[in-house]
Amino acid sequence: MDLIAQIQQAGVVGAGGAGFPTHVKLNAQAEYLIINAAECEPLLQTDQYLMKNQALQLIGGILMSQKQIGAEKAVIAVKGKYKEAIASLHDAITRLGASVEIFELQNFYPAGDEQMTVFEVTGRSVPPGGIPLNVGCVVSNVATMIGVFDAAQGIPVTYKYVSILGEVREPRVIRVPVGTSFEECLAAAGGTVSSDFAIIRGGPMMGGIVTKDDLPRMNITKTDGALIVIPADHYLVERSQLTEEQILMRAKACIQCGFCTQQCPRYLIGHDLHPHKMMNVIKYGMPIDESCSEALLCCACGVCEMYACPMGIDPRQVNIIIANKLRAQGIRYQHDSSNIIAREGREDRKVDPYKLINRLDLSRWDHQELHEFKAVDVDTVTLSLWQHIGAGSEPQVRVGDRVETGKVIGTIPEGKLGSTIHASISGVVTAVDNDSITISRNAA
Ligand code: SF4
Ligand code: SF4
Repeated sequence: MDLIAQIQQAGVVGAGGAGFPTHVKLNAQAEYLIINAAECEPLLQTDQYLMKNQALQLIGGILMSQKQIGAEKAVIAVKGKYKEAIASLHDAITRLGASVEIFELQNFYPAGDEQMTVFEVTGRSVPPGGIPLNVGCVVSNVATMIGVFDAAQGIPVTYKYVSILGEVREPRVIRVPVGTSFEECLAAAGGTVSSDFAIIRGGPMMGGIVTKDDLPRMNITKTDGALIVIPADHYLVERSQLTEEQILMRAKACIQCGFCTQQCPRYLIGHDLHPHKMMNVIKYGMPIDESCSEALLCCACGVCEMYACPMGIDPRQVNIIIANKLRAQGIRYQHDSSNIIAREGREDRKVDPYKLINRLDLSRWDHQELHEFKAVDVDTVTLSLWQHIGAGSEPQVRVGDRVETGKVIGTIPEGKLGSTIHASISGVVTAVDNDSITISRNAA
């Protein structure tokens, strides 16, 4: 079986958040394979843990992927400040005699946005509406490359490494079966400090907020990497609860200072994205049509609204609202492959993470000292059939079936983009519907 088939069979998807199926991404030819190891969102520590502790598997997965896509260069883009991780990577590269380069990124947000990473490593701007492959690059990330290494040994994706941070008694990195409840993850970190809390799922800039009401329904997927517990009355929770109506109303307070555009990372690499213009569209009730298609270029990094805007209003959310309305009308950005030039002043406008963390009121959890790593075993898992970009997986088991860890329980619908799903614990299937499959270890 070739590597692509092994990756597909193992159900590897982009572990950095998006969940794009890796067997599709690596079925390409490119000059560069770039591993995004920036971990640029505030507070996160999972990739650093993996680089320190699984560097050999990581480099192994990179070498396999590099060969697969025929890349001349394999580059790990990692922040220069992650000294221990870099030392571990150098050691693994030496031991394997690998020709893998380490590119030390500056400490800025969003260094890990894939188009920023491509620009930093190659000096090339991905064209507006394009993908890194348009400039000869395939970008993947740390956990995905380890998944590729495992796939080549016949090991499917059945567990995740997740940082449990913030207001928990024992912040730590844990390893849990895919489908483990968030509640079990919090318990593995000693429980929450207070009973009135919310959770940031992923990073504080781009992750979602999970409230206590949502908690019983939340389970770890292949794309999870961090849960950060914050007080229920934290600024980020309040901000996440704004309705669309409130966001559009607040847009009327825009003073057209243009700071959001001047600081927008996509604008700065040369894209024609101007969030202040989108604010004007809303403020003055202009039509949402092809003339707004630049909103589709927004990567939702949040720099404009969480850092740049002096009015504390919501240019990112406005972009998202406009982009959704455009997609509903079938409007797409007309891909422009002309040579894009980064704008002057880009270097000076990179966002300092320390200032960002202060502005987000997160400094009390920055650089949390971690308790020892814990591998967590659970009795019940609920595996989503929608853990990836593409079509939902088709269940291949019924209630009452006994399954062993690693058995295929969900497959890719014929001819569709999707991912294979495996049992993450051994047990009996206790529930199956269009959204998920539940397995219990102790069910009769
Ligand atoms: S969220 Fe704001 S800063 Fe980020 S890409 Fe979109 S418009 Fe630009
Ligand atoms: S930074 Fe804020 S106030 Fe200034 S143009 Fe952008 S949205 Fe309007």
